[in-house]
Amino acid sequence: MPPANATALVLRTTDWSETSRIATLWTREFGKVRVLAKGGRRLRSSFESALDLLTLCRIVLLRKSSGGLDLLTEAQVVRRFPGLSTRLPALYAAYYVAELLADWTEENDPHPHLFDEALDALGTLADPAAGEAVGPRLVRFELVLLRELGYSPLLDVCAACHAPADHPPAFSASAGGVVCAGCAPRQRDRRPLSPACHEALVQLSASGDAWRRPWGYAVRAELRQVLGGYVTYLLGRRPRLLPYLQGS
Ligand SMILES: [Zn+2]
Repeated sequence: MPPANATALVLRTTDWSETSRIATLWTREFGKVRVLAKGGRRLRSSFESALDLLTLCRIVLLRKSSGGLDLLTEAQVVRRFPGLSTRLPALYAAYYVAELLADWTEENDPHPHLFDEALDALGTLADPAAGEAVGPRLVRFELVLLRELGYSPLLDVCAACHAPADHPPAFSASAGGVVCAGCAPRQRDRRPLSPACHEALVQLSASGDAWRRPWGYAVRAELRQVLGGYVTYLLGRRPRLLPYLQGS
């Protein structure tokens, strides 16, 4: 296989031997890839700092045709997000982005729009001025991720009976979105949905800029609960970072 160039975000690394590491990378060109970075002095000199978590790199890969790991032959740092390390809510949110991409996307299934969205989200989270926008920005990322993977929650019609739902009283992860007053009692996993949170979900789904608005604490907290429950249901387990996002 000829060498392939890609732009990659480092999602996870583990030591493979004393001189090599396995890295999970989210690439714009190929989607998620797992690579072996062989080491020795070369690893320390050219790879080590490039393979820090959440570093954006230009990489060169030798792709494996089937199964196995790709071989990473070059990695150069393009961008880091140093602002993340100074504020825990932003850092946990960024780790959550990496966890969802690492655990939920398929290898060799590119989603360039989701790649760009992840980078944009990390840039916002790393901005010291993000403040209370951390939570809504993360929700916007989750909604884009869900859409790209085919799991957009239904927000304008009841997810159970598909009747128009102007003021849905509840959200059901198993139904796949909001549920109307008639269907809600039959959805055992329903959780109450306030009109303000419903409106926030609609706006954050529709617009890439709606997270910039000053969402109040109650809505931010409810958004976190709704999205966290939905993601947990779809993944089949609670993301490790999810408990650290409460209150963001
Ligand atoms: Zn219904």
